[in-house]
Amino acid sequence: MHPIVIVGSGLAGYTLLKEIRKRDMTTPVTIVTADDGAFYSKPNLSNALTSGKTAAALAGASAEKMATEQNATVLPHTRVTAIDTQTRRIRTDSGELDYSKLVLAIGADPIPHGLSGDGAGSVLAVNDLADYAAFRGAIDGKKRITILGGGLIGCEFANDLAQAGFAVDVVHLGGWPLERLLPVEAGRRMADSLAAIGVTWHFGRTAKSVTRVANGYQVTLDNGDAIDAGVVLSAIGLRPRTLLAQAAGIAVGRGIQTNGLLETGSPDVYAMGDCAEVEGLNLPYVQPLMVQARALAATLTGTPTPVAYPAMPVMVKTPAHPVAVLPPKIGAAGGWKVECGDTGICALHTDASGRLQGFALTGSETGRRGALAKELAA
Ligand SMILES: Cc1cc2nc3c(=O)[nH]c(=O)nc-3n(C[C@H](O)[C@H](O)[C@H](O)COP(=O)(O)OP(=O)(O)OC[C@H]3O[C@@H](n4cnc5c(N)ncnc54)[C@H](O)[C@@H]3O)c2cc1C
Repeated sequence: MHPIVIVGSGLAGYTLLKEIRKRDMTTPVTIVTADDGAFYSKPNLSNALTSGKTAAALAGASAEKMATEQNATVLPHTRVTAIDTQTRRIRTDSGELDYSKLVLAIGADPIPHGLSGDGAGSVLAVNDLADYAAFRGAIDGKKRITILGGGLIGCEFANDLAQAGFAVDVVHLGGWPLERLLPVEAGRRMADSLAAIGVTWHFGRTAKSVTRVANGYQVTLDNGDAIDAGVVLSAIGLRPRTLLAQAAGIAVGRGIQTNGLLETGSPDVYAMGDCAEVEGLNLPYVQPLMVQARALAATLTGTPTPVAYPAMPVMVKTPAHPVAVLPPKIGAAGGWKVECGDTGICALHTDASGRLQGFALTGSETGRRGALAKELAA
């Protein structure tokens, strides 16, 4: 019997393996992964300085240990290069492998920054443990870091680095951080709190070039301003990895497209996690992939189970001013009602009849997220 083959050993791939094993200890499962297959929790990358962890300390069980613990085969440092959906076989850079079911849990790539200048090739992005090890090596002995992008990941790194004593510049095209998720009042409050610990904001700006200068780099912005930086970190966003699926004739849009059962258009090929677009939605966060893993494990072990998401607030790990947000559905009618207190902001997105559609909470108000999520679910 050919194994269930999971491509990817991120939180999506490994959570699926664990969920399968809760239901079935014997069906052969093989994880094929381009990285070293060590288990780690990616969200820890953006607060590791504050929590005193090195890249090595963030790595949990090795590929070998995961394989033993979960009674599975894990093939680290093995990149899948093609999928033949007719013969149900994948090609890798070290041979071919037949599958009974194939799950693509291959994550997302940092969006290319497109900068010019002789320092552009040294701009870093952190999207896995190896990137993080390189980043920690690069910031050693440096004082100023420029972050490109003031979204979730940019803000979290800004907080972590500033807390650790670095001077941080954040270049962000929007008028306030996380502007697609937060109303302006909430974004401004967060920006002010990060400014108070050493973050300098450059709103409404993009970086054009990075050039090498003595002791580091000069980042030139679209208005001509220049920022000195020891290290430049790009956090302008991630793009689901779709090329492998697309080359195999599997439908892709923003991500690898699936129905509610996580089935792609190709028989016995599934997708989940950051690479997937499930019924039109790409949700690149941990909680959705956990829900997907539980549903898919049930499906793969004989009980077809569609994904049913609960209300899932996202916590932004900015201890200087934490944020909990559950944005309204795209295009939802209505608007924000914002209450600003001294220690936090409560913004509720309601429709014309006052029904809650989403929320953004900051500071002390984040404690209300559980109750509001329940109200939303109801
Ligand atoms: C810095 C940071 C902080 C974050 N913080 C939070 C947070 O606080 N809360 C939250 O909910 N979310 C957070 N996220 C998002 C969350 O971490 C991701 O949604 C989640 O980890 C994605 O897991 P994944 O398994 O889908 O993808 P990945 O972790 O990217 O795993 C993809 C896997 O696929 C493998 N792979 C790719 N291509 C191939 C191939 N061709 N062949 C073989 N293997 C392949 C890779 O080697 C890797 O093992 C954060 C993300 C980042 C970057």
